[in-house]
Amino acid sequence: MYTYQAFGDRYVLSLENHVEITKALTMFCEEKQIKAGVIHGIGAVGKATLRFFDPHTKQYIDKTFQEQMEIACLIGNISQKEGKPYLHLHITLARSDYSALAGHLLEATLSGAGEFVIEAFDGSLERYYNTSIGLNLYQLRK
Ligand code: FE
Repeated sequence: MYTYQAFGDRYVLSLENHVEITKALTMFCEEKQIKAGVIHGIGAVGKATLRFFDPHTKQYIDKTFQEQMEIACLIGNISQKEGKPYLHLHITLARSDYSALAGHLLEATLSGAGEFVIEAFDGSLERYYNTSIGLNLYQLRK
């Protein structure tokens, strides 16, 4: 699904063509036991599902775009929820007319290159479901 090279706590990853990005990145975090960190990347996709959170209904609205798009920027963070990697990813996608689509990334299929950098933090960041907001938030100390 990917090849990588480590630079201390940083990893440069190249994802294989046609893989689902969030699945591959989650697998890598599992393999390396990364429980906190940050991630960024560029590349291209042929399909992407973005989601929009409506704070009034606490529901997500998902929308899939099936076309060739450049990943102008993928950025996000890595934490843990219930013992599993939890990736919070946002993406800006460039369409063939150079306009941009952006949002919270649910899933996307690579079409071309997928070049990512993961920086692993020493330790673990946990998340919990905040019922009043309706989101999985960081569980940090006050
Ligand atoms: Fe988000």
